[in-house]
Amino acid sequence: MRITVLAGGVGGSRFVRGVREECARRWPDPSTGSGRRGEGGTVASVTVIVNTGDDIWLSGVRLMPDFDSLLYSLAGVNDTERGWGRAGETERVSAELREWGVGWPWFTLGDLDLGTHLARTAWLRDGLTPSQVGERLQRRWPLGVRLIPATDTEVDTHVLVADPEASGSEDGSGSGSGTGEREMHFQEWWTRYRATLPALAFRQRNLAEARPAPGVVEAIADADLVLIAPSNPVVSIGTILAVPGMREALAATAAPVVGVSPIIGGKVVRGMADACLPAIGVETSAEAVGRHYGFRRDGGLLDAWLVDETDAAAAAALSAEGLLAASAPLWMHDLDRSADLAGAAIDLGTTARSA
Ligand code: GDP
Ligand code: CA
Repeated sequence: MRITVLAGGVGGSRFVRGVREECARRWPDPSTGSGRRGEGGTVASVTVIVNTGDDIWLSGVRLMPDFDSLLYSLAGVNDTERGWGRAGETERVSAELREWGVGWPWFTLGDLDLGTHLARTAWLRDGLTPSQVGERLQRRWPLGVRLIPATDTEVDTHVLVADPEASGSEDGSGSGSGTGEREMHFQEWWTRYRATLPALAFRQRNLAEARPAPGVVEAIADADLVLIAPSNPVVSIGTILAVPGMREALAATAAPVVGVSPIIGGKVVRGMADACLPAIGVETSAEAVGRHYGFRRDGGLLDAWLVDETDAAAAAALSAEGLLAASAPLWMHDLDRSADLAGAAIDLGTTARSA
């Protein structure tokens, strides 16, 4: 079984851990594993195509937040209380950088995390591509899945915001020109303004020249199942899909494409995706996001759409149109529930294949 997942950071990590766990249960590797939960390997292979839209150069180093969230979480070295970054983190270097006036004072980089960024930046300077760097980073821990950045091109997402005060962007790199609009890096909008400035549009840099990273198109073409994680549909999944060649690869694969809703009962369950959906004219509902991705039958992305049990009416509405949709518990409270969710998505893929 070869499963390829499109994923963002935090929602993506929970889901991918569930996929890894469910694979170990369904297709255990007899040569590994002690039989204890979460410790067994699998003969299934799982590839994750990771959003790179949140990536940024800051304080002289390259950050790849979604890649690192997946890396830390799958390695089990993540901070489970905070929900991001490394466990046992300290912030001494960040305090020094603040004294020097380097970087963003409202964007703290942990010391252990900075170690990752320094390693990545050193390898980039040696001439490695981001996907080659990603390969090196994941050699450190046995993740049980393969992570590939969606693209090696720097496609950092920028947000166009309404700003009556604007007479130009703060860092001089944006497009503000006294028009009451300002463009800023996604991380500034998300972290400094907590996504409270209304977003007018999301723009990825260098998109025209971007291509899927080596291995991405193959992972989609050779998959038995493609899963769209319950990640932010705009700035995580949307950015992956915007890379030229990505939609073509998904349209061409023989594998069923199953999406999992990040919206439950009209609400984003973690994060601030509801600040992103209005900018692209999509309602915050499981049905609207499913329709936004679209069904392959009609030239869209999905063969099947999985929604939460509270959104069973959305599944029924889509089914009434002959589209494949189902409901299951979508809250990923713990590893068991994430694995059950992954199992429901895998089962829906089987249904899609035989449909
Ligand atoms: P980010 O990169 O950290 O923003 O993380 P992602 O893009 O991967 O995922 C963020 C989205 O995951 C949020 O907008 C939520 O809607 C969704 N999400 C988080 N936790 C859960 C959960 O337990 N169940 C479901 N279905 N979605 C979730
Ligand atoms: Ca992210």
